[in-house]
Amino acid sequence: MDETEGRSLDDVAEFVIQCSKCPRLSSYIRQIGENKVKRFVNDEYWSKPVPGFGDNDAELVIVGLAPAAHGGNRTGRMFTGDSSGQWLMKALFETGYANMPASISKDDGLILKNVYITSIVKCAPPSNKPSSSEISNCSRYLKVELALLERNTRVIIALGRIAFKTVCDFYGLKGLKFRHGACYEFSKKYLLVSYHPSRQNTNTKKLSWDMWIDIFRKANSLTRSF
Ligand code: SF4
Repeated sequence: MDETEGRSLDDVAEFVIQCSKCPRLSSYIRQIGENKVKRFVNDEYWSKPVPGFGDNDAELVIVGLAPAAHGGNRTGRMFTGDSSGQWLMKALFETGYANMPASISKDDGLILKNVYITSIVKCAPPSNKPSSSEISNCSRYLKVELALLERNTRVIIALGRIAFKTVCDFYGLKGLKFRHGACYEFSKKYLLVSYHPSRQNTNTKKLSWDMWIDIFRKANSLTRSF
């Protein structure tokens, strides 16, 4: 699945959903759905790999780490049904990339405009820590997604250090520093760097709302500027 010729983002999504290349993660995402947390005990968990989603002609591409155990792994859509998704969708709504400020379930009516959301690993990893071999296994999908989006991509937002490194590797960008708010220009595109909106960062105020929304305001001004 390293070829883009003849593929579409929908094809990639189908490959992703069927994938079981990482035994540890395949087993983990099944177990999460079998041992539900109390607040979601009545939910039927997706418990499969979660593909990217959004506007296939997007100028803005957001690259996260992985689906959350009780977010994307439960609902079947990235950044959906968890606190990171709430932060992301509120910011996308406020900056004109989404039709609503929430992301609750696959059938909640959310429409993304000019933005595509994906992750470097498509299965929820234990403690949000994929191994290097799992990142390497899954990079095949991210590479195809980025290649298929490339025609329109103007801005990429990397959420967190690992996503930043993976995006840099994909584009052959060397020597760039991970720093929240950094903006790097390359090949008629911009790479915007942000902390991940995980509870760990938002609850501790390492990432404040003002710091977060500024990233999307910047993205908005850059996508409009072309
Ligand atoms: S993390 Fe990626 S490569 Fe590994 S099983 Fe999930 S979808 Fe497949």
